[in-house]
Amino acid sequence: MLIASPTGSNICGRCIDQAQQIVKDEAPGVNKSYSLFSSIEDIPKPVEIKSHLDDYVIGQEQAKRAVSVAVHNHYKRIMVQDDEHEIDLEKSNILLMGPTGTGKTLLARALASFLDVPFAIADATVLTEAGYVGEDVENILVRLLQSADYDVQATEAGIIYVDEIDKISRRSANASITRDVSGEGVQQALLKILEGTVAQVPPKGGRKHPEQPLVSINTKNILFIVGGAFEGIEDIIARRRKKTLLGFSSFDKEDTPLKGAELLRVVEPEDLLQYGLIPELIGRLPVLAALEDLTREALHSILLEPRNALVKQYQKMFEIEGVELIIEEKALDAIIDEAQQVGTGARALRRSMEKVMQDIMFDLPDWEGIKKCVITRAVVKDGKPPRLS
Ligand code: ADP
Repeated sequence: MLIASPTGSNICGRCIDQAQQIVKDEAPGVNKSYSLFSSIEDIPKPVEIKSHLDDYVIGQEQAKRAVSVAVHNHYKRIMVQDDEHEIDLEKSNILLMGPTGTGKTLLARALASFLDVPFAIADATVLTEAGYVGEDVENILVRLLQSADYDVQATEAGIIYVDEIDKISRRSANASITRDVSGEGVQQALLKILEGTVAQVPPKGGRKHPEQPLVSINTKNILFIVGGAFEGIEDIIARRRKKTLLGFSSFDKEDTPLKGAELLRVVEPEDLLQYGLIPELIGRLPVLAALEDLTREALHSILLEPRNALVKQYQKMFEIEGVELIIEEKALDAIIDEAQQVGTGARALRRSMEKVMQDIMFDLPDWEGIKKCVITRAVVKDGKPPRLS
């Protein structure tokens, strides 16, 4: 079939097909293909991974180090497992513990973008055992498959972040969580894909039904990072430490008992068991890393330093309109004060910042002859207009 253009030239159906294929193959982002590692030397070293994470994630040194090593080992393991190796290297799935808004998701996301592997985020609380209302656990794989643009090979080397893993714990005695036993079923289902299985997933998601074509995905090499706030686990850890210290002479007692995030750092599998994770799942999460509450200084850095820091983003937006945006130090302090009151870590920063900037951005495109906009403390605190010049 020939298709004519208004200018008189014609193109045949076959050429259209070919051109479409070229666009698909060549155009960036149209059909992203992942450059998986071809040799062990290609795999970034832990130092390189960490240095990339440093660009995005402020603080959280221990977690960044743990994750960098685990990820390096993970891809190394994939490379050597085909060889005749007598030692079976085990997958090092990662458990990130720490309060909300401290960078758990960000860490996982930054990792995936650096490694150029498909990445998907799932929320453990919406997962259910197959057959119940809610999402099948296997749907996580569907999401990864979609993010890999249906490239099964890339999917099988991807990274999945499962958030709120603590909310599917089976115990109900915890102060903040009351959940029935159904959490255990989800843990069992998660366990299966965590340890490696060939899952049959419907490529479009949703429930499986008999006539649907299914795609097989082997999860053996998919790296799972699971995260949760584990509220209240500090008490469990503290209690365990107290028990083990009991009976020793005062000489052996702790000088100052550990508090907060310090306690998270000495978490042991038995604490997680107490918290309500099933032992098999804990066994599949050999790398434990704790994220700390963000300090004032950290929040300050988060506003200014990361590649896509909030302040940089706003400055860019103003730059497009030809205006230089300056946020005074005292104004930043006030924004941090406000965010700290909300108590959702760095997540609150965005909200307090947006609150301040919304009205200003509303007027921004209409400013004439303005070259500079200074946000002072009074703008943040009392809603005064910014200083324009
Ligand atoms: P959570 O720990 O609850 O998964 P997120 O990683 O989703 O928290 O963090 C929410 C947002 O807060 C991120 O998108 C990021 O902008 C910011 N943020 C949180 N922690 C950090 C950090 N350590 N460094 C830089 N930005 C951070």
